[in-house]
Amino acid sequence: MDALVTGVCAAGGLVLGEAMEVVVERVGARRPLTRPWEACGECDRPLGAAAGAPVVGSLVVRRCPHCDTPRAHGRRALVLGAVSALVLGLLGGRFGADAVVAAYAPLGLSLVALSAVDLERYLLPNRILYPTVAVTGPLLVIASAVDHRWGSLGRAALSALVAFVAFLGVHLAVPRGMGFGDVRLAGLVGGAAGWLGFGHAFVAFLVAFGLGAVIGLVVMAVTRGGRKTRVPFGPFLAAGALVALVWGNPIANALFHRGS
Ligand SMILES: [Zn+2]
Repeated sequence: MDALVTGVCAAGGLVLGEAMEVVVERVGARRPLTRPWEACGECDRPLGAAAGAPVVGSLVVRRCPHCDTPRAHGRRALVLGAVSALVLGLLGGRFGADAVVAAYAPLGLSLVALSAVDLERYLLPNRILYPTVAVTGPLLVIASAVDHRWGSLGRAALSALVAFVAFLGVHLAVPRGMGFGDVRLAGLVGGAAGWLGFGHAFVAFLVAFGLGAVIGLVVMAVTRGGRKTRVPFGPFLAAGALVALVWGNPIANALFHRGS
């Protein structure tokens, strides 16, 4: 059963992740999400049905048939598909037939999209964040109801609140270092990881700040940009959330010396 869930999640991640390129591009550029979804970035005309083929669409149609402009981000759709397949496969493997996988799978997909937009534009759009909260929240409530895990729901709400307030404090202290999008995303990550336990929420932010510090220093060294180098924090929050959800049990046990 768990292998089946893992396979379905990975396959779904591949197809949906690849299709999410439209969302990443349009929402990032503050353009409307209207048909035709596969349109030329240059002349705005539709690229044709083949361009929207699942997974391989960006390989089949590489250029606009009307003006011959290469498709913007030709490879990113495939990267989004591959990363989403990995993320959802890991979540499927970790949670199997547990009802909470229905909440974490769409969250995983959304975290990939948010990371992609943040990497490109230093932006965590509310047009992705709010729908994610609106979907993940009720699904966590349903998962709590299915397994009578109301304590988990309480921990999720408290973790979300604490994370939001803590990041808000950082944002108010150093507005240039921590955007308000990061504050909102921290609330979401805190809530999602906190559903598994306070230790899991702690692990999520520990990993986010640890990775952020290490990779931030590497980027500063490589680009020689010094302290002015801008490194988006969203991808680190997403990575922290994934680590906490998938490997949070052993890490939290090791940190807090509790038996499993
Ligand atoms: Zn064109």
